[in-house]
Amino acid sequence: MPQPAHRLASFNESVIRAMTRLANQHGSINLAQGFPDFDPPEPLLAALERATRGPFHQYAVTWGAPRFRQALAAKINRDTGLGIDPDQHLVVTCGSTEAMMAAMMTACNPGDKVIVFSPFYENYTADAVLSGAIPIYVPLHPPQFNYDPEVLAAAFAQKPKAIILCNPSNPSGKVFTRDELMEIGRLAELHDTFVITDEVYEHIVYPPHEHIRFATLPGMFERTITCNSLSKTYSITGWRLGYVMASPAVIQEARKVHDFLTVGAAAPLQEAAVTGLEFPPPYYDELLAIYSAKRDVFLSYLEQTGLPYTTPQGAYYVMVDIGSLGFAHDHEAAEWFTKEIGVTGVPGSSFFREPVHNLIRFHFAKKEETLHRAGERLLKLAKK
Ligand code: GLN
Repeated sequence: MPQPAHRLASFNESVIRAMTRLANQHGSINLAQGFPDFDPPEPLLAALERATRGPFHQYAVTWGAPRFRQALAAKINRDTGLGIDPDQHLVVTCGSTEAMMAAMMTACNPGDKVIVFSPFYENYTADAVLSGAIPIYVPLHPPQFNYDPEVLAAAFAQKPKAIILCNPSNPSGKVFTRDELMEIGRLAELHDTFVITDEVYEHIVYPPHEHIRFATLPGMFERTITCNSLSKTYSITGWRLGYVMASPAVIQEARKVHDFLTVGAAAPLQEAAVTGLEFPPPYYDELLAIYSAKRDVFLSYLEQTGLPYTTPQGAYYVMVDIGSLGFAHDHEAAEWFTKEIGVTGVPGSSFFREPVHNLIRFHFAKKEETLHRAGERLLKLAKK
């Protein structure tokens, strides 16, 4: 019988989504796959209803409906002053997942090296394999998730074509400082490397930490391929709306990749999402206040369990150290949490290149009542 392609043997199905299936099977609270259990803002739902009755049922312009790109550029320009041109600097994609794949296929030739910080969001390995690139992993050491500058410099010395930078970082919750970003920029310049960023949690950054878009650093716009999405900012992960932002020369190529990958993002959803992109600045303050409160609720329970954890600086994930519970493997621990505690997380090893088996990632993008229910269940650990 014909066999599927060899390249598929080098990565597995998503562990994150497998954990969702496991949680559902056991009626466990799913703090594994990061998505909200609350509704998007009401004006977005109203806009979606209106869009269903409008002329939005056929293909949108391949690289994004003009109204969507205009609203997106206006929002980015208000946030950054970058002067993004909706016709030159943007491709609208099916989520940041497609944006990342398109960015990698645009930047990398087969055999090119790409730096990936470990732990990393699990898609990046698949993105690298499918685009023919070879990852060089640079460890972010738990619990602080800092990297060794010499190790990073040595990785750059291997002349990678690109570095993938997830900031704020999933799963570690790290927010890279300006100094760290400047150092990455200096090395990228020295070795002529693309910086492919995944900045989907840009609006979920807890003070005093601050999100700095890599493309806004002096001299960095031309080499940055920014991937981003509306999923987390407007609580619409199922709408699959993301984008690539880069220089016109890069965008011209990324448009081709996107065109043949998916043709385009869903037209009615792009139309409806314009309403979100036009929300005034207080919306983003409120979003952060909501997530800050969720973080406080969830961490207060974790604190009571006595398990060590890393307080996230951004995004909505917590890496919890379950080393003291005595499991041989974190997969075993994650299964036990699902069946015995009734709360599901993602085994940390699925994010690491290094053999790290003492961490589980939980997320807190849930209604506070869900977090209280999960927290009460986790308190069983304190009594163990
Ligand atoms: N980004 C989310 C997570 O890390 C959701 C992943 C996914 O299934 N697309 O959990």
